[in-house]
Amino acid sequence: MEVDPVELAKNTEICKNCTNIVVGKGNESADIMFIGEAPGNKEDIEGIPFVGAAGKNLDKLLDGVGLSMDDVYIANILKCRPPENRDPLPEEIRAHTPWLLKQIKDLNPKIVCSLGNYATKFFMAKGDVDKMKDQPGITSVHGKVQMIEVEGLKIRLIPLFHPAAIIYNRSLLGEWEKDMEIVKNEIQQQSLF
Ligand code: URA
Repeated sequence: MEVDPVELAKNTEICKNCTNIVVGKGNESADIMFIGEAPGNKEDIEGIPFVGAAGKNLDKLLDGVGLSMDDVYIANILKCRPPENRDPLPEEIRAHTPWLLKQIKDLNPKIVCSLGNYATKFFMAKGDVDKMKDQPGITSVHGKVQMIEVEGLKIRLIPLFHPAAIIYNRSLLGEWEKDMEIVKNEIQQQSLF
């Protein structure tokens, strides 16, 4: 019998110990999806992704490219907050990403913006968690649009710095703004809005 991806994630320790499972937010018919790493403290409390400081930067990013929450769907690699916001473990990524893949399949987006190293490496490794460590980091691939196949769907992947990274490293702001232009161009090229 096939394992239910939701049950698979719910079986992990982080899911058993979190306050809320953070599934996603936005428009479930959107053509563009943003995928982060894992819920933080505020997201865990509210059960909604990107509601904390990083979320404010993401809102600015969306605003800058003329998008609102009605135009996008936002989810994470992990659906539950790891304790003390530690990095996701490979076995957690393995247990939680079947749920993410199901979300992508149901949504059928034309563009996926991966936010930061974990989401980017997951897609560049074609979902093979063991191969994530061999993938180039976000510093070398951000803003480089790539065609990927997810669950049989052809998708344009745009790797972006994680919005939290911009808070800690203001020198990334210039790169971040250039990447926004790339997102804007892709949206126009795909005539999404
Ligand atoms: N960082 C993430 O990657 N996801 C969230 O939902 C919040 C912060």
